[in-house]
Amino acid sequence: MKRLAIYCGSATPADPFYLDLAREVGATLATRGIGVVYGGGRLGLMGAIADAALAAGGEVIGVIPQALVDAEVAHRGLSELHVVPGMHQRKQLFTDLSDGFVTLPGGTGTMDELWEALSWAQLGYHADPVGLLNARGYYDHLVAFWAQMAQVGFLRAQHRDLLIVGDTLDTLLDRMGGHVPTQPIVRMDAGDL
Ligand code: AMP
Repeated sequence: MKRLAIYCGSATPADPFYLDLAREVGATLATRGIGVVYGGGRLGLMGAIADAALAAGGEVIGVIPQALVDAEVAHRGLSELHVVPGMHQRKQLFTDLSDGFVTLPGGTGTMDELWEALSWAQLGYHADPVGLLNARGYYDHLVAFWAQMAQVGFLRAQHRDLLIVGDTLDTLLDRMGGHVPTQPIVRMDAGDL
C-alpha cells in the first residue's frame, strides 16, 4: 500500500485523545513511506493528520469540493490539493488515488465515506482493503452492527471480511496487507444473490 485514503472527523472533540491519535497516525504513515489522500481540510482530526504527516516528511494529497474551499476550510500547505466540483467527483478521486482506505474516529461525513468504500468493494468497483481503526473502542457498536447484518442475512458470507478492524494502526495495517479480494456482486450469479 503506497497511498491510503484516510477518513476522519472534521471536528475537534474535547477529549485530546482523538487529536493525538490523528497526529500519531499521520506521523506513522509518513515514517512508513505511505502517502495520505484525504478530504483536504485544515480542521479537526483531518488537519491534525495532514500537519503531522507533512511535518514527518510525508506526502499528503487533499481532494476537496469547491464549496468547502469557498468556506475557507481547505488546508493550504499540502503536497497536492485537488479542487473538484462536488462530493461525487471527490469520492471517485479518493478511490482512484489510493490503494486502501482507513477510517479513524469521525462523524456523519466519515461514516458516509466508510460505508461507500465498503459498498463499492462489495459491488466490485474497487478491490482495495477497507480498514477501521477502532481506537479505544470508538467503533464497538459499528463492529457489532456489522456482525448483526451478517447474522440476520443482509451481509453475505463472501463479504463479511470486507471490513478490516484493528485497535492500533500497526495491527490494522498488518491485517490490511493480508487482504484477499472477495467475490464481488458484479461477478456473482443472480441465483447466488
Ligand atoms: P465528519 O465526520 O462529519 O466530520 O466528516 C468528515 C469527513 O467528511 C472527512 O473525511 C471529509 O472528507 C468530509 N468533510 C466533512 N467536513 C469537512 C470539512 N470541513 N473540510 C473538509 N472535508 C470535510
